[in-house]
Amino acid sequence: MSKILVTGGAGFLGSHLCDKLLSESHDVLCVDNFFTGSKANIRHLLDDPDFELMRHDVTVPLYVEVDKIYNLACPASPVHYQHDRIQTTKTSVHGAMNMLGLAKRLKARILQASTSEVYGDPEIHPQVESYWGRVNPIGVRSCYDEGKRCAETLFFDYHRQVGLEIKVMRIFNTYGPRMHPNDGRVVSNFIVGALTGEPITIYGDGSQTRSFCYVDDLIDGMVRLMGSPAAFTGPVNIGNPGEFTMLELAEKVLATVGGRSKLTFLPLPGDDPKQRQPDISLAKEALGWAPRMPLEDGLKETVAYFRKVLA
Ligand code: NAD
Ligand code: UDP
Ligand code: UDP
Repeated sequence: MSKILVTGGAGFLGSHLCDKLLSESHDVLCVDNFFTGSKANIRHLLDDPDFELMRHDVTVPLYVEVDKIYNLACPASPVHYQHDRIQTTKTSVHGAMNMLGLAKRLKARILQASTSEVYGDPEIHPQVESYWGRVNPIGVRSCYDEGKRCAETLFFDYHRQVGLEIKVMRIFNTYGPRMHPNDGRVVSNFIVGALTGEPITIYGDGSQTRSFCYVDDLIDGMVRLMGSPAAFTGPVNIGNPGEFTMLELAEKVLATVGGRSKLTFLPLPGDDPKQRQPDISLAKEALGWAPRMPLEDGLKETVAYFRKVLA
């Protein structure tokens, strides 16, 4: 049993990670500033003696004693990360630096929740880890994309310079229970639209693609990566290669909900990537990992969650 720090532990992915680590009998310290996370996501854990919650902003140094660190703190949806773009960059960059400083002092292994956004609007399809990406450094998404790219740089420099054991995970679009109903991400927007009978909002013509991974599969990949041999640093893509246009996703959501929402077409936001699909050969080979949940089944679970939240 080890003591594990999860930053951003009250968020969508972080709360599922806390569940998983506690189920494996670890001692979990969840650190979160509750910018996008919520107590509701972790309320069921508050009575667990192995779970500890600390309200803290990772842009401020943190002095705790732990064996391993999962660094997930960062708003992840465009609506939230563009709300205060300077704070978003600070969270990625200063947050990574503080958590790396903590890991250095403790000689603790540290995992970074990076993102497929480091590939920007990609010219290589599907995206492989060796691709350097096409990111606009001064656009409306840059605070997130460049913040995460700089965090990766810091991780690799701490690895090279002070021998820190690092794991860099490039997460592709993930969905499932505990997504924030108002965070503007496509899966939650479409499901909420379909359940409330409001129009389903397609940005652009809906031909852009994304590949959606169910949260349980993603967390399984994350824990496997943390447990992988020290020599394996990543970066490694974790995502589901099943690729869908936003029009196809809208059809699937409507079929799952059985709703009668109309589709409305709105302008495409700035720098919106046209296509995205992970190449997961490395994850298969190095971690023995592949996603298992088909989109249709994952949508059923997610719709059931939103039905409860919206009731
Ligand atoms: P989320 O917004 O639900 O969770 C992020 C958590 O971090 C929240 O609980 C928030 O309150 C907390 N947080 C934000 N800024 C903080 C700060 N300065 N100090 C402390 N806590 C802070 O998002 P998520 O979907 O759970 O994403 C978790 C991580 O995974 C993020 O780093 C995100 O960039 C990455 N990621 C997620 C996806 C996805 O599809 N969900 C895709 C790629 C990468
Ligand atoms: N840090 C932290 N917790 C620790 C150790 C360091 O938050 O237990 C912070 C520290 O405040 C610094 C950052 O991590 O801002 C980087 O630490 P490092 O030791 O690499 O750099 P230095 O302190 O030498 O600038
Ligand atoms: N999108 C959409 N309607 C919505 C929300 C998003 O058509 O209500 C589109 C968005 O323009 C993007 C895709 O869905 O092309 C995925 O958006 P999301 O914000 O979920 O993730 P990201 O763009 O960060 O991959």
